Amino acid sequence: MRFSINTLGCRSNLCESDEISSELERSGFQKVDYRDGKLHFCIINTCTITSEADRKVRQLLRRIKKTNQNAKMVVTGCFVRQNRSFLEDNEVDLIIDNEKKDDIYSMASEIAKIMGDGPAAVRARQKPGSIYNNSFGPRIRYHSRPMVKIQDGCEQHCSYCIIPITRGKYRSVDSGSVINKVRGLEKAGFDEIVLTGINIGKYGLDLEERHGLPGLVEKLVDKTNIKRIRISSIEVNEVDDRLLSVLSDNRERFARHLHIPLQSGSDSILKSMRRPYSGQFFMEKISKAREVFPDIAITTDVMVGFPGETDEDFNKSLGFVEEAGFARLHVFKFSSRPGTAAGKMNNKIGSFIKNERSRLIRELGMELRNKYMEHNIGRNLDVVVEKIDGEDGLVSGISGNYIKVYFRNVIDYSKLRGKIIKLKAEKKFRDGLFAAAPG
Ligand code: SF4
Repeated sequence: MRFSINTLGCRSNLCESDEISSELERSGFQKVDYRDGKLHFCIINTCTITSEADRKVRQLLRRIKKTNQNAKMVVTGCFVRQNRSFLEDNEVDLIIDNEKKDDIYSMASEIAKIMGDGPAAVRARQKPGSIYNNSFGPRIRYHSRPMVKIQDGCEQHCSYCIIPITRGKYRSVDSGSVINKVRGLEKAGFDEIVLTGINIGKYGLDLEERHGLPGLVEKLVDKTNIKRIRISSIEVNEVDDRLLSVLSDNRERFARHLHIPLQSGSDSILKSMRRPYSGQFFMEKISKAREVFPDIAITTDVMVGFPGETDEDFNKSLGFVEEAGFARLHVFKFSSRPGTAAGKMNNKIGSFIKNERSRLIRELGMELRNKYMEHNIGRNLDVVVEKIDGEDGLVSGISGNYIKVYFRNVIDYSKLRGKIIKLKAEKKFRDGLFAAAPG
């Protein structure tokens, strides 16, 4: 039986989709591209972070239905909670609540039921539990830097964010399961793993073993031989001395990269966003991180057009971003989400201003990105090999400090994929740097 899984949104969704795919394939289903038009069923793992994300879900659902008229449709993810009637009206066969998608075995069983029983049902009966108890990890072909989900949920309730509503309370994966998963990935030949979650700095709050994220990464360093651990995204309040000291004591085992969402450079907007820090606190934290890792890439998210954001507030964001010298910027325009505090605010910003602010800050982001890359020319970078371009044979990968590096393939690519190699960056190239071929 053929299926496709289509994922929108964040790394956590990608990670969950990998796990679901792996399990379904191990249960005998065949994963294909929905564009082939030969699906028996399709899973869409959705996002609802912005109104644009909602639009993409609706569009994808219609597109897949059009090309696969007889396929059963299964929808899960953050979109489900507030859009159930839309999904029912559009004849979705199975709607799986976001908090239930962890239980892949039940999901496989539900799918098997709508498909008229199948191999998944057999497996579902044999292995009850959550995807996190699965120590094998995603199949080797999905990613060359596999994501390991360690946490879900957020209770911070930033005023613009719908995630606490769609993802619920903090839930952490116990350290034993994380270690088993990482060991499995290490055995499968991966050199780098990416620790992923919705608010990973809150790791462990719900567990008896209350050692938090620093304790977990310390255990991973001690109990696995994985070459490199990357922390995907972390709130600035969670970058504490303990975490920095673990990173510093084990510097060869961590990617020199932290993604720390800023959102705004204006303290009054941060307050209105209910972000629990000031600009000064943020700046001091990134200076500390740079003391530990002088060449660290600090990347961030910035939101423009939050209700009430004046020109002065926006200029503060521009000034902050420039001074902080971020290595990469993700820019988001405020999008009103139902059920959030900001959704009810009156002083919304018009789309013309939002677009203009977005353009200006993106341009600044590109300048900083180029500067950061130029700064790395001539350096030896530890690059995890990711992709080969079939046409020109160029191989690319990601350095520890988050730069895309291209090189010509001289060795069998399949032997390099997922491995970390040392490359000397020679010049700027496309969206990254070009390096000499490995010796
Ligand atoms: S920390 Fe804030 S922005 Fe991030 S998921 Fe939680 S509520 Fe949303």
